[in-house]
Amino acid sequence: MNHKSQIKERANQMNKTKRSVKVAVVTGGAQGIGKAITLKLATEHWEVIAVDIDKEAGGELLGHSKIYSIVFKHLDVSDEDSVEQFFNFVEKEYGRLDALINNAGLASPGNAPIEKLKFNEWHEKIAVNLSGPMLCSKYAANLLRKSKGSVVNIASTRALMSEPDNEAYSASKGGVVALTHALANSLGPDVRVNAISPGWIDVRNWQKRSERDAEPLREVDHKQHLVGRVGRPTDIADMVSYLISNRAGFITGQNFVIDGGMNRKMIYQ
Ligand code: NAD
Repeated sequence: MNHKSQIKERANQMNKTKRSVKVAVVTGGAQGIGKAITLKLATEHWEVIAVDIDKEAGGELLGHSKIYSIVFKHLDVSDEDSVEQFFNFVEKEYGRLDALINNAGLASPGNAPIEKLKFNEWHEKIAVNLSGPMLCSKYAANLLRKSKGSVVNIASTRALMSEPDNEAYSASKGGVVALTHALANSLGPDVRVNAISPGWIDVRNWQKRSERDAEPLREVDHKQHLVGRVGRPTDIADMVSYLISNRAGFITGQNFVIDGGMNRKMIYQ
C-alpha cells in the first residue's frame, strides 16, 4: 500500500473521530531538537517525514516508527537537486504537505577567529543553515499553498547576540530570521511562516547512540537561566506544535525566543 492509500485509509478512520490527516516534513529530524519535533508531531497524529543527512541516526529513529507514523528519508538540505527530488517524492507519495519544519543545521556555533576563518567553512554553515531552509521552502511552497499549511524555521538566539568567533553561525541564523519574514510576505495569506530562536537546549540524550553523552550538567549551567534550568528539546517541539496548529492562525513572520530568559538578563560586570 503506498502512502496516498495509507493516508486515505487513516483519513477514513479519523473521520470517525472528526480529525484530519496532516503531513509534516522535519529536516534534521533524526536527532536532537528535530527528533523531539518528529516524535511530538507523530504523537499528535501527524504523518511525519523526517529527513536527515545522518543515515545511522535515521535508522535509529525508525525504531519509533513501529509505534508512530514516521518515515525517514536521507537528504542533504544544501543540495538543490536532492531537495527538488525529495519534494517531488512527497507530492507523488503523499499528495499533500501541511507543515515544513526547517530545523537541520550545523549546530556548533564556534568558528576560527575571524582573521583565520576559512571561506569554505563560512560557506558550509551558510549553505546548510540558511540556504537549506530557503531551498526546502522553495520546493515545498506549492504543496503548502494548496493545503494552507505553515513553515517553522529554527533560528537561534545567536541571530540576536553572540560570543566571540561566532561569525558564520550567527550570520546564518540572522539570515534565517530575515528569511522568515520575507517568506511570510511572499507566501501569505495561504501559508504562515514563523521562526523559533532557541537558547541553550541540552540535546545530548537525543543524539544517535554512538554520540550520546549523558554527563550531568553543572548547577551553574541551570541556575544562570531565569527559569532555573537549561532548555529541553521538548520545549521547542511544544512551540512548533502550537505554531503549526490552527490556534496560531493570526501569527506569521515572527521570531519567538525560547531561552529560559537568558536574553533578558543584564550581565554587566
Ligand atoms: P543536532 O546536531 O543534534 O541536530 C541537527 C540535525 O541536523 C542532525 O541530525 C544532523 O545530522 C542534521 N543535519 C546536519 N546537516 C544536515 C544537512 N546538510 N542536511 C540534512 N540534515 C542535516 O543539533 P540540535 O542542537 O538539535 O540543533 C537543531 C537546530 O536547532 C539547528 O538548526 C541548530 O542550529 C538550532 N539550535 C540549537 C540550539 C541548541 O542549544 N541545541 C540552540 C539554538 C539553535
